[in-house]
Amino acid sequence: MAEWENKVRKAVPYTPGEQPKEKEITKLNTNENPYPPSPAVKEALEELNYRDMRLYPAPDAAELVSAIAAEYKVKPESVFVGVGSDDVLSVAFQTFFNSDKPVLFPEITYSFYDVWADIYKIPYEAIPLNNDLTIDPEDYTLENGGIVIANPNAPTGIFMGMDAIESIVKANPGSVVIIDEAYIDFGGESCLPLIKKYDNLLVVQTFSKSRSLAGMRIGFAMGNAALIKYMNDVKFSVNSYTMSRAAIAVGAAVVKDSEYYKGTCAKIIKTREHAKNALTRLGFEFPDSKANFIFAKHSTVEAKKLFEELKKRKIYVRYWDKPIIRDYLRITVGTSTDMQKLTDALTDILK
Ligand code: PMP
Repeated sequence: MAEWENKVRKAVPYTPGEQPKEKEITKLNTNENPYPPSPAVKEALEELNYRDMRLYPAPDAAELVSAIAAEYKVKPESVFVGVGSDDVLSVAFQTFFNSDKPVLFPEITYSFYDVWADIYKIPYEAIPLNNDLTIDPEDYTLENGGIVIANPNAPTGIFMGMDAIESIVKANPGSVVIIDEAYIDFGGESCLPLIKKYDNLLVVQTFSKSRSLAGMRIGFAMGNAALIKYMNDVKFSVNSYTMSRAAIAVGAAVVKDSEYYKGTCAKIIKTREHAKNALTRLGFEFPDSKANFIFAKHSTVEAKKLFEELKKRKIYVRYWDKPIIRDYLRITVGTSTDMQKLTDALTDILK
């Protein structure tokens, strides 16, 4: 090791799902939306003047912030925007998790939380799930430096009702509670109404899933104006211009067309329920997902084998060779044609 390497900040990075280069694959591994985004995206991009790209974008992304505020009926001071919800969550970790006490999150959850905790040197405690993979709100009453919960949880897809979320927020007035609602539009109910009642609740959402814009990188958070101010202070201490001109214009246009994304979400929910029946017939078990993926375990065949066999047939799903979850595949809900290809392939593999 070179001497300078002693001074390097060493990180164990998050591993995102594969983005294979080959064409004609069935991609059910990163929870992208199988449908294109609202046509409002095309118009917004056409209206962008390439000559303006020489100018910095608005540092406050006010056009996007106001459009989100109007859609969700909150004040613009209650909205923070970032480069996907990963950026928003990362800023929230830096801002709110600054204590010697451990931040709490479920043992099985979005695997970026422990990566951010490590890079920002935040102590944390991963709380085991119940045997049925649900979260017990009672477990989140320990002394802590903050709490983060994905709802629906990932990769289980299990949704926790607003009463359970409220009990966690209420029990922890001394900490910020972050609820990561990346998948909320696929059948859950947002806890957003609670931000009026609790000044320690931050609700994080994204345009990547229900609004089909993973490639544009737009995420947002809503909470009490004081929370948002603290996040902006941290953000403006790192990078003034996180949102590009394109992201601001596209995001503002898309948020005004909520009818469109509600339609594609309804199709995905229908396909998901259909896929659940097909998977049950093939011998799989899974928690009742309210997200755009199904976390499925086969009664006899190992998940790793299924993952590899599917890949040979150009069908990509997600598999983690990790304790507790190594028997499961996380299958993104695609179009009904995608799901038919998946169940046909599984039928062939399992015969
Ligand atoms: N939260 C959860 C639970 C996720 O699964 C993801 C997607 N990987 C994200 C946040 C981040 O998504 P994005 O940065 O695209 O908004």
